[in-house]
Amino acid sequence: MVTSDHPAAAPGRVAFAMQDGIAVLTIDNPPVNAGSLGVRRGVVAGIAAAQEAGARGAVLIGAGRTFISGSDLREFGRPLEQPELPDMIACIEAAPFPVVAALHGVALGGGLELALGCDWRIAAPGTKVGLPEVSLGFIPGAGGTQRLPRLVGQSRAIDLICRAARIPAEEAQEIGLIDAIAEGDLLQAAFAFLAEGRGKRLAKNLTPPEETPEAIDAVATKMLARGGKRPNVAEAIRLVRASNGDADAALAEERAVFHRLRLSEDAFALRHLFFAERKAASVDGLDMAQARDVTRVGVVGGGTMGQGIARAFLAADLPVVLVERDQEALSSALERTRAGIDRQVASGRLSQEVAEGRKAALAGTVDHAGLAGCDLVIEAVFEDMAVKTALLASLEQHLPDSAILATNTSYLDIDEMAQGLSRLDRVIGLHFFSPADVMKLLEVVRAERTSEAVLATGLKLARRLGKQPVVARVGEGFVGNRIYAAYRRRAELLVLDGAAPEAVDAAAKAFGFAMGPFAVSDMSGLDIAWSMRKRQAATRDPKARYVTIPDRLCEAGRLGRKTGKGWYDHSGGKPVPDPEVAALIAAARADAGVSPRSYDAETIQRQLLAAIVNEAACLLDEGIAQRASDIDVVLTNGYGFPRWGGGPLYWAARQDRAALEADLADLAQAVGHGFRAGPVARTLDQIDIPTEGQ
Ligand code: NAD
Repeated sequence: MVTSDHPAAAPGRVAFAMQDGIAVLTIDNPPVNAGSLGVRRGVVAGIAAAQEAGARGAVLIGAGRTFISGSDLREFGRPLEQPELPDMIACIEAAPFPVVAALHGVALGGGLELALGCDWRIAAPGTKVGLPEVSLGFIPGAGGTQRLPRLVGQSRAIDLICRAARIPAEEAQEIGLIDAIAEGDLLQAAFAFLAEGRGKRLAKNLTPPEETPEAIDAVATKMLARGGKRPNVAEAIRLVRASNGDADAALAEERAVFHRLRLSEDAFALRHLFFAERKAASVDGLDMAQARDVTRVGVVGGGTMGQGIARAFLAADLPVVLVERDQEALSSALERTRAGIDRQVASGRLSQEVAEGRKAALAGTVDHAGLAGCDLVIEAVFEDMAVKTALLASLEQHLPDSAILATNTSYLDIDEMAQGLSRLDRVIGLHFFSPADVMKLLEVVRAERTSEAVLATGLKLARRLGKQPVVARVGEGFVGNRIYAAYRRRAELLVLDGAAPEAVDAAAKAFGFAMGPFAVSDMSGLDIAWSMRKRQAATRDPKARYVTIPDRLCEAGRLGRKTGKGWYDHSGGKPVPDPEVAALIAAARADAGVSPRSYDAETIQRQLLAAIVNEAACLLDEGIAQRASDIDVVLTNGYGFPRWGGGPLYWAARQDRAALEADLADLAQAVGHGFRAGPVARTLDQIDIPTEGQ
């Protein structure tokens, strides 16, 4: 085979070569081949050069580790430069020869749309493809809503686009999105594929496979609800449903909607989160090359959290040794951990084969000596300082010096916990959220003496687990739980001062929170906070306002869903407001000498948000959180704050400052004695907000 560099080599980020009459366009835009302007120019020029050279066909392939990871999001907040992605696809479609997209690594967003605009698609095994645009507040705008359904059907396209799903090439081939999986060298496989006599086959000229309108309706309804009925989700569905008409008209309509939505408030907020999440996974100045490999993990304590944590490690192909107090507890913990894996099989999320592999990688012991081969051990035993201190001391005896000791404590002081150990540098907090194998957030807690290598290992491990790490320093409740406590306290004060719990929950939900604070309390149980309040009773400032309502609920045996009653009555299955609770609240108000006032939903929402924002400012001031945008990552990934809102600090940065000041003054007044005002203005200055005309 003769390889020659063509004189009209494509400029920009695409290398051009002719091989045996086939043009090879190699996209080379490190590190992840984002589809930026240079790539678009290069492909357009490359196709023209191929035409000039009389090519019989062309292959688009990525240099380095991936095809195209997606469009360059930094370009999306301002006018796009020509040629845009649809222009590039139009050149490919107009070319007189067939064009094959040869995919490896990932082909996401604009990368997949480009591939869909080619005549054929082949992929290396394991390549991931998907259209994540909906999760960024807009829609696929370069034919994704038109070409995908013509290949895979409308309901499947709605499902994939609205879930922002990433699917492996093998699955993509099964549904007709990819034409072949490459055996061996990808470029050679693309040549062989073309040599089989493939001609032009434009997706836009196909008709979507036949489906009943009812089947499409069912998926559309489900996906709209799943997507919080956001406008971009509705638009994506509407456009996919128009994919059996005139393709050019629908493509033009899709482009117009895309341009409108990429400048929508949701899209700006979600872009803020996109960059915030990337930043949160890093520590300025930390050399990640120090991160150590983790190959085997110990989990001590096989309760609710330990089981979920074990499953999270197993899902990342890390063998786990689970440790419990005695044989009986161990058997039960192992059984429950396995049962959790089986449930994933039953719900279709996992194949039987993968499940068996995970279960085989799970071992158990009651002897700490059994942890000797682990390079990281995480404890998830009772939230009790004495229990955890003794445990760490014993682990230190049984583990090699290189092993990392991690704690999943929710509130306790990790420095105090590690005090008696001879090596403090290897202790770190890895604070998972419940259920640990599902929730994305992972607080990586940097204790006073945690070494940089151990911190880097924690961050790398988080990524391996598919988690969103956020780095915190030691402080009661770290970042998330501390902010949540301030939020819940404000919610309880609102109830004491006159709002009904169901009105507070409804306002929080109307704002976009997944659940209201009282529904959350009922779900997780009121007893944990109750025992903490009892512990703190002796040291509580008697002048501070104290809401007795949760204590009264607990004293009445109303511990939440698990006892059938809490803030709500759950006995009929669905939570309903209970007159008994209303009476109990009225009594608490009378005892506190409060004359109840009324609150509208907006005031409730702004007060809840003010509490979050103020506490966030305190945390940043104390150095417990690293940066303002990290707070947005924590609240959206772990506490049900709506992603399309960008997070509480992004929200606050966009508010009128005088109105926000007034909210903070009301908050200070409501909390009363002991209120600490955080440096909110300084905190919000850290948040970049889009300005007019972008
Ligand atoms: P849990 O009571 O369900 O489980 C604790 C388990 O630890 C029990 O199975 C117990 O038998 C075992 N255990 C106790 N002492 C032990 C020892 N010395 N050796 C081995 N096993 C021992 O508690 P949980 O809810 O899983 O919480 C565990 C830890 O995770 C706590 O520190 C908690 O604060 C933290 N946490 C909990 C949540 C949550 O939502 N439940 C969330 C994040 C963090």
